[in-house]
Amino acid sequence: MIPVLKTPAIFGNKPLVIASHNQGKVKEIGEMIAPLGIRALSAAETNTPEPEETGATFAENAVLKAEHAASATGLPALADDSGLVVPAIGGAPGIYSARWAGPDKNFARAFEQIEAALADNAPDMRKMDAHFTCVLALSIPGDKTQLFEGRVDGRITFPPRGNQGFGYDPIFIPKGYDITFGEFNPAEKNRISHRRRAFTKFLSFLKDAA
Ligand code: IMP
Repeated sequence: MIPVLKTPAIFGNKPLVIASHNQGKVKEIGEMIAPLGIRALSAAETNTPEPEETGATFAENAVLKAEHAASATGLPALADDSGLVVPAIGGAPGIYSARWAGPDKNFARAFEQIEAALADNAPDMRKMDAHFTCVLALSIPGDKTQLFEGRVDGRITFPPRGNQGFGYDPIFIPKGYDITFGEFNPAEKNRISHRRRAFTKFLSFLKDAA
């Protein structure tokens, strides 16, 4: 149960910009911060274009997006960078998770690429260790950017199953379960996800800062 807090003083009563153009993520983040009474604006609502993700790590990309939105709007901004990491294929798709699906967000193609890479590199393994990682970056104009990281371990499976989530959800089975995130009830996914875990750290930072 999330405690109900007042909008944190460190935001100076300003709304928080959710620096993402991914509607699936904006929705999940919006649901997580709603109980805090924080007024949130999406990047689209503030007309902030998305910067190019030139970082070499999830953290670098999250910082880049949060600081870009904060300096463009003068408002506190929260960005996440996340993706699926499959160690058996060198950590791919990793920070390139969105790019593997292409501009048309064709995840069926991304699934096929993962399956093909696994067949090349580990033909005898069909149940592969994988994890989702999420790094949140909070940039408040004039302050040091804060980072919060969350991860959920599991394995990938083919063929994809379920249509509840987004992105790589249909091929990811979290540890301790036998259904994919695509088959999860969204509230249940939000309770254990990498994003939730990063958020728990973000929320305790806000509590300490209040
Ligand atoms: P980003 O917007 O650069 O962080 O891209 C993240 C990529 O990882 C997107 O392609 C998402 O679809 C994928 N991704 C991140 N989190 C999740 C998740 O919870 N489920 C499924 N795919 C995810």
